Amino acid sequence: MQEVDCLIIGGGIAGVSTAYHLAGYGGRVTLLERGEIASEASGVNAGQIGALGWGHMPNLQSYLTMGSMELFKTLQLDHGYDIAFRQSGALQVIQTEAQDAFTRGRVPDLQADGYQVELLSMREARSIEPEINPALLGVMYMPLRGQADPKVATQAFAQAAERHGAAIRTGHAVTGIQVRADGAYRVETPHESFVAGKLVLAAGAWCAPIGEMLGLKIPIVPIRGQMWDTEPLPPRTFQTFSSAESASHWDTESRAETPPELTHRQGQRVTRHIYGRQTREGELRFGGDREMLGYNQTPDPAGIEINYGHAKELLPFLQAVPIRRTWAGTMPFSLDGAPIIGGIPLLPNLYIVSGLASSGFGRGPMAGKLLADYIHTGHRPHVLAESDPARCVTWMPEKG
Ligand SMILES: Cc1cc2nc3c(=O)[nH]c(=O)nc-3n(C[C@H](O)[C@H](O)[C@H](O)COP(=O)(O)OP(=O)(O)OC[C@H]3O[C@@H](n4cnc5c(N)ncnc54)[C@H](O)[C@@H]3O)c2cc1C
Repeated sequence: MQEVDCLIIGGGIAGVSTAYHLAGYGGRVTLLERGEIASEASGVNAGQIGALGWGHMPNLQSYLTMGSMELFKTLQLDHGYDIAFRQSGALQVIQTEAQDAFTRGRVPDLQADGYQVELLSMREARSIEPEINPALLGVMYMPLRGQADPKVATQAFAQAAERHGAAIRTGHAVTGIQVRADGAYRVETPHESFVAGKLVLAAGAWCAPIGEMLGLKIPIVPIRGQMWDTEPLPPRTFQTFSSAESASHWDTESRAETPPELTHRQGQRVTRHIYGRQTREGELRFGGDREMLGYNQTPDPAGIEINYGHAKELLPFLQAVPIRRTWAGTMPFSLDGAPIIGGIPLLPNLYIVSGLASSGFGRGPMAGKLLADYIHTGHRPHVLAESDPARCVTWMPEKG
């Protein structure tokens, strides 16, 4: 049996960043991952890093996006990890009059709040993205956004954590957790048992089954995201892409008992969504659909076809470029759409970093740092009030 100060369950971007920062503060940290590092959402995502700036009154979203951007930059530029990071900028395209009205209403509000966004005419857009469809109505330009290789970046954080002294144990599936009389956690894997003074749940979309091991109901819902790519091509595009279609739909969506910002409700499509980019290796990589289907990771060809059609509306050269490969992964959504980061007050020294939803690659590094700061200092960073687990984590009914 191994004794550690802090045990982290989950080797995605949230867990490895927590391990990196906590180990940097000097504690004995061990991370348990059932597969390989980045074997789930953190390794299969689009690699888009969202950021609009700190704004005049930085909130949790500003900290997670801008803070993560700084951490990605530091890995690439200062620590020598080649994670294919680029602060490329991003374009959100406008395809209809309704989307145009929505975006024209939104941009001045964002600018007034201190965020870096700009409306570009198609002439301006084509000067920075020559192959974009000239028949679009315009674009919202977000110059601070970036991209990186998600698998390599997540693995780099794990390697950096090991350099800080953390132990990374892959192939270690957590099968049971008990709270001992002294408040420490005994964590079982098929290989070894561990005793930890502090426990961090960073198991992404699998936080709910891990919570059940402790008698807790953790309302994280698995959402299937799916993607496709092409054979590598010479450089054809430079920014990352999205469309105002889903953004305008979600802006008016009424609150439901299921997570917000999905493309399907009760099996029916309610909007198209698209995101994508060309990787440094040259593949065009796009995705969009977000559907509540449990842990199903089989891509739906009909949804892929709709997304491919949408991509061709943005970048007409794709009409001559076939899809090479499709895949799907599982995103961790909370019911209110907000992250769940902080201490779980129902049990001593128990923490969670999850609910990073569809933008957790770009927000995970800072989510892990904020949690590590909290654990190390014993003081909750003020922005984590917005992600307080106390709002939604409860005992399971039978423990009531
Ligand atoms: C198709 C797709 C596209 C996306 N595109 C983007 C994008 O472009 N930009 C962006 O910012 N975000 C994107 N996301 C979202 C992003 O990938 C996730 O929000 C983020 O990776 C979540 O990180 P995580 O560490 O919380 O979870 P994960 O990466 O899922 O990591 C959780 C880990 O816990 C492990 N685990 C689970 N149970 C156990 C157990 N019992 N014992 C031990 N280990 C366990 C799993 O194996 C897994 O490795 C996308 C997601 C998908 C699926």
